[in-house]
Amino acid sequence: MAASYVAATLLKFIALCIFASGFLLTRRESDAIGARVATADGGAIVDKVVVLIIDGARYDWSLDDASLEGNHPAGRKQLTLPTVRRYGSTCVDADGKRRRSGEDKGRGKVFKFIADAPTTTQQRLKGLLTGGLPTFIDVSASFGGTSLREDNVVSQLHRAGKRMAISGDDTWAELFDVNATFGVEAAMYPSFDVKDTETVDAGVRYRMNEALARPQDWDVLIGHMLGADHVGHTHGATTDAMRTKLAQNDVDIENIIDAMRSDERFENSLLLVFGDHGMTDNGDHGGGTAEEVESFLLAYHPWAKHDVSCTAEDEILPQIDFAPTLATLLGVPIPHGNLGRVNQQILSLVTRKTWIESMPSIYTLFTKIQSRFGTILALTATGSTGRSALATCFTSENS
Ligand SMILES: [Zn+2]
Repeated sequence: MAASYVAATLLKFIALCIFASGFLLTRRESDAIGARVATADGGAIVDKVVVLIIDGARYDWSLDDASLEGNHPAGRKQLTLPTVRRYGSTCVDADGKRRRSGEDKGRGKVFKFIADAPTTTQQRLKGLLTGGLPTFIDVSASFGGTSLREDNVVSQLHRAGKRMAISGDDTWAELFDVNATFGVEAAMYPSFDVKDTETVDAGVRYRMNEALARPQDWDVLIGHMLGADHVGHTHGATTDAMRTKLAQNDVDIENIIDAMRSDERFENSLLLVFGDHGMTDNGDHGGGTAEEVESFLLAYHPWAKHDVSCTAEDEILPQIDFAPTLATLLGVPIPHGNLGRVNQQILSLVTRKTWIESMPSIYTLFTKIQSRFGTILALTATGSTGRSALATCFTSENS
């Protein structure tokens, strides 16, 4: 009897040890710094990247009303950020019309952006920037506590001399010496008061608006809004307060897109709008439920000439793919500890121009000659009637 009790206790202890060693992984940090650039020629694909993080943004906020109907309770019908779908969808409707209306240029794509648990902001930022997987107990090798000592995409950009500006959630200031890293501007706002749903967003709105008017001063612009996350914590995710906040954030996204579309200095730039994690209906996050780990990512190239066709469902983009993709877009080495992959779909939104395309007047002339030459060939093949038409080919100006 006593022997079986001891054996059972021993077994329980061993089982607990196995569980703890698997679940509560300690994490070792490496000092190594990545040196590999993913592009063939090692160059940057874009010269500017604008990042807007909407903290706690759920994936279903990116869906349009039509797709929400039937999938979600009626009360949540209007909880969306319509601008995300409008600029991120290039889908063609059954009647052949693009769902997006009145667009002359621009190319975007929405992804289902999947975080790894734990879904807390600090752990997510670490995962986003290193391309790695933080653990539930993140034991830092340094006494710096929460600071980010591992190789990451922000350090790589800084090392490569990219000029960066940031505004928003002061969690960034726990990870970096923000003033040294973000030399252009670092305007951090307090994140601890979850009842304050406006201060951080208002600060980011003001700073980003100012920075977008002077793109010559920076290469990377980051804004991290916290309002939606705080509304979730204070009021819940399915409330009127959230509806008001999303309407506000939707205008924020649209204003950034408008600024980038109306200024030629953003011709070779990319906008990335995403959430670092989602939230439950109660507005909580930290765990691994679908509502907590699923966010969206909108990648938008404001000056692209043509659209790409889209698939019926948004593709999955693991959060760990963010760091290697951002590094590749800006032509800096991928962080050493990265586990993610470079997302080719995002790269394909921005295609580098050929030398002739980059000279507008020569390019126009070239396409004119090409089309005229095609007409000449077609007409000479049709004999004498064609030859008389050939004369008009040189006088007509509307070909
Ligand atoms: Zn967060």
